[in-house]
Amino acid sequence: PAIGAFLLTPPDFFEHGALVSVLTTQPLGRALDYRAPEGGCHLGAFVEVPLGPRKVLGVVWGAGKGDYDLAKVRHVIRALDAPPMRDEMREFLTRAAAYTLTPMPAMLRLATRAPGLGDPPSMRKIYRRGGAEPDRMTDARRRVLETLAEYGDLSFTLKELAEMAGVTASVVKGLVTQGAVREEDSPRDTPFGRMDPDLPSKELTADQAAGAEALAAGVRGETYGTTLLRGVTGSGKTEVYLEAVAAALRAGRQSLVLLPEIALTEQFFHRVQERFGAKPAEWHSGATMTERRRIWRMVGEGQAGVVIGARSALFLPFQNLGLIVVDEEHDTSYKQEDGVLYNARDMAVLRAAICGAQVVLASATPSLETWANVEAGKYTRIDLASRFGPAVMPQMGAIDMRTEGLPANQWVSPTLQSEVTKRLERGEQAMLFINRRGYAPVTLCRACGHQIACDDCDARMVEHRFLKRLVCHQCGESKPMPEVCPSCEVEGKLAPVGPGVERLGEEAKTLWPEARIAVLSSDMYGSARALKAEIAGIAEGGADIIIGTQLVAKGHNFPKLTLVGVIDADLGLTGSDLRAAERTFQLMRQVAGRAGRAEAPGAALLQTYQPDHPVIRAILAGDEEKFWAAEAGERRQAGVPPYGRMAGIILSGSDVAAVFDLGNQLARQDGPLRKIGAQVYGPAPAPIARVRGRHRVRMLIKAEKTAPLQEAIARWIAQVRLKGDVRLAVDIDPQSF
Ligand code: ADP
Ligand code: ZN
Repeated sequence: PAIGAFLLTPPDFFEHGALVSVLTTQPLGRALDYRAPEGGCHLGAFVEVPLGPRKVLGVVWGAGKGDYDLAKVRHVIRALDAPPMRDEMREFLTRAAAYTLTPMPAMLRLATRAPGLGDPPSMRKIYRRGGAEPDRMTDARRRVLETLAEYGDLSFTLKELAEMAGVTASVVKGLVTQGAVREEDSPRDTPFGRMDPDLPSKELTADQAAGAEALAAGVRGETYGTTLLRGVTGSGKTEVYLEAVAAALRAGRQSLVLLPEIALTEQFFHRVQERFGAKPAEWHSGATMTERRRIWRMVGEGQAGVVIGARSALFLPFQNLGLIVVDEEHDTSYKQEDGVLYNARDMAVLRAAICGAQVVLASATPSLETWANVEAGKYTRIDLASRFGPAVMPQMGAIDMRTEGLPANQWVSPTLQSEVTKRLERGEQAMLFINRRGYAPVTLCRACGHQIACDDCDARMVEHRFLKRLVCHQCGESKPMPEVCPSCEVEGKLAPVGPGVERLGEEAKTLWPEARIAVLSSDMYGSARALKAEIAGIAEGGADIIIGTQLVAKGHNFPKLTLVGVIDADLGLTGSDLRAAERTFQLMRQVAGRAGRAEAPGAALLQTYQPDHPVIRAILAGDEEKFWAAEAGERRQAGVPPYGRMAGIILSGSDVAAVFDLGNQLARQDGPLRKIGAQVYGPAPAPIARVRGRHRVRMLIKAEKTAPLQEAIARWIAQVRLKGDVRLAVDIDPQSF
């Protein structure tokens, strides 16, 4: 709580022996005093400190307070070989922690995710394939050699190489001794290539050029703030914001572009490379440890001019950040739902405000939050009116499933079938979209009616025929498909119910036996690399019909695709979630936007049982402003975001009674919340009431827009003690309510 106080101008350097306050990533509740090591240390230095019998990572957060026995204060073990954390990063972490009600150590962990941060550079070596063959080839040895073949030009510590290959360090050492692997001293990390903002770029349309100039003016510091860059898919938003990146490069400042599903966006990297003549840094959890460490350092030294990243890139130690682009800003994957619960879009705005950077939020279907900020005059707005070139927006249509007469266990309507056939005959591509992974969402016993559920979660197991297993989408647990019903033990009566993407693929094979069919679902590929290759192949015409989940809706450009069929447009509309309409609208518009991105005009057909539903009508009409106004009206009425504030509290534990007891206690002691006029709902079972054997209970808090929600919640939850394995997590601005 008092951590903010440490930000008061401490000295920048502490001589040997001076008292320093070190924040560690250990859950301690406060920063601890230490003495500066020999040679002193900088404010913000990454250090290793003793904590009981252990050595832990920390950051020098300020001057020590000296408020306990000075004789017992221990020395910092050493300052690590990394640029000190900058003031602005410490301020960002402090404010982000206060906003999300996250303890500082957990927040700090996000900013210290550089692998090998604690290793002295001398431990880093280059490992290469040596001339000799190993005396005997084992699986483990083969994995080491394969890993080297793939990443041989980068430097590793021995431990990292062993980890990457999934072997013990002694396997690597054995190969070194035999000369099959060579070990050399590592030079400094290779810097990224220089990005040249002044290479010839595409000639922009008048609309695009005006938008690009407005963004560039912001980056140059002539205006300042956050801009919504709105335009349909294919209108050139990327071209426009790349000009803002160019302006940042000219000003000598760094840019960060956040993308959802970054591991799959190969095409995007090519575009950036083409525009600036060098590869940008690529930050995401799928990147190798070596690559991530290199980026972390290069970003900190200001040598990486452009970073393309997943949300965690917000915590990279930028030296001179001038621009953050959040592409597809409405995308739900920007909300981190594990550990620290934060929305990367909102944190980008905070991060940028602290370091005086410009923010561009790009989307064809902006979030209601962003619309509201535009309306309130907090964000500026730039519109790109139409698709670039001859491409036009797809023709939208509904297929009324009430009158189609679908045969049992079939999901493609006769109308959709004949439309797809037409495209195939013209040599074009068609896409069938269904937002359900696996073969079938339910496995039912036809003898006793039992539905197979996960042992540890309150969720059904989903059959994945490709994996030949039943998988729990909550905890990831899987088991082989049983032969007999686990409940009545009758054999051969288990049947799939409902469609998943794999089952749709099967149906497509019978409907179009001649067609080349590609089923795109993340779990059907061993690695992001394999999936990426498949997507690239499809873009080049390697498939006639593409069948996929949410994954295909994002960013990919399939030039020959002219028809998108949505199998179940109603899927997102059921349930009580107040954001369901917004989500469905965004997803459907985005999926439809995949069609007709080149010369041939595109169409999108929505199979629906409720063609008159207002959301379906809005999707068909494509009138975003109207949809937004209607949604905004309803949210305002209900006093929910973006016109009111919400927070969710998730209580969890193995004993359901203990979890509910805590919830009831909180509900009784709601004084701090009542004081700010907030209302508490619950405790009630969470939308998924059990995950990994832990029962989950949710409470929702609703307050007025201007109410000091975080302070009130902090005071409220401080009244209770957590007993046993009961945990409490606060979710500010929850995704569903
Ligand atoms: P968005 O990001 O809005 O989906 P893109 O920037 O990806 O749109 O543009 C869609 C396609 O049109 C891309 O292939 C892009 O290269 C092309 N494009 C857009 N604007 C221009 C332009 N002014 N000149 C040439 N090609 C353009
Ligand atoms: Zn489970």
